[in-house]
Amino acid sequence: MIIQLEKEISAKTKEEIVRKVSDLKYKITDVKTQKGDYLVGIGKQEFDIRDVGHMPGISDIHIVSDDYKLVSRKWKVNPTTIDLGDGVCIEEGGMAIMAGPCSIEGEEQIDKTINHLKENDVKIMRGGVYKPRSSPYSFRGMGIEGLKLWYKAARSAGIKIITEVMQVSQIEEMLPYVDIFQVGARNTQNFNLLDELGLVDKPVLIKRGISGTINELLSSAEYVFSAGNENLMLCERGIRTYEKASRNTMDINAITILKEKSHLPVIADPSHGIGIRDHVEPVALACIMAGADGVIYETHEKPEEAYSDGQQTLNFRESKKLIDRMRKVFDLRESM
Ligand code: PEP
Ligand code: MN
Repeated sequence: MIIQLEKEISAKTKEEIVRKVSDLKYKITDVKTQKGDYLVGIGKQEFDIRDVGHMPGISDIHIVSDDYKLVSRKWKVNPTTIDLGDGVCIEEGGMAIMAGPCSIEGEEQIDKTINHLKENDVKIMRGGVYKPRSSPYSFRGMGIEGLKLWYKAARSAGIKIITEVMQVSQIEEMLPYVDIFQVGARNTQNFNLLDELGLVDKPVLIKRGISGTINELLSSAEYVFSAGNENLMLCERGIRTYEKASRNTMDINAITILKEKSHLPVIADPSHGIGIRDHVEPVALACIMAGADGVIYETHEKPEEAYSDGQQTLNFRESKKLIDRMRKVFDLRESM
């Protein structure tokens, strides 16, 4: 059960609601986000929703049987829009493009990428400054100094930044330089990190865990939401299966299922999803047809020289072709 409380509710009125719901044997969690106050009730007993719904102080009430509640479409039918300012929005019925290198490598690379994005009217740049690498001997990112360089160039070009935060201690120093925090696939169930991102006034994109289920991804989003931050996006980036012909198996099913189950924007990452440069485009286009609200992918002037993930990174010519085709497929989808 989810109860949305009226903004100016008195402590006494709230107490009466809590008492009533507790009498129904529901365990109540108080959720305060930047946008609203909720009571989330977990219980099994059947009851007539009108018995609670008529009480003063309640602006909305729903029974949500899913494990996750506040991120469910059963609770909020209207899709969530992520507003990054300056007219840049990520929303249902739109197609956000986020492109850039796997890793931020230096000023020249940043400038070249920004030019490429500007030429193609792409407003959001991706890139990692803290890189989760399978081997500790691989390039692990430029860190906060790289982010500051990137921020300076991106701000003056009107480009927004999405970048991965790997641990709680990085949040504070990254905060002024980030437009979207990315939670990587290896951190989807880092519940301390998710809790802390709930306290942050910046949007968060959560990737699906490498072996994570759709339900687990939604429950991870519920962590951030219930800790206070409603500005969330879900990202399908491929899962590990028995298949060895591709790096991961892009679960296109997940895109349409997530769209049905949640009001949050769903973003596809075909680069990590398949992990092979020549196949990124068809997978990206398929994801758009499946209903993705945006695509995040890797591009680099010279992928063969990229510090990480070069094998799945598009050069700028390939990237331009992808952008043009994604826009065509998006128009087709919306016209159907
Ligand atoms: C990345 O975006 O470069 C990345 C490391 O992604 P993932 O967490 O999906 O592996
Ligand atoms: Mn990568």
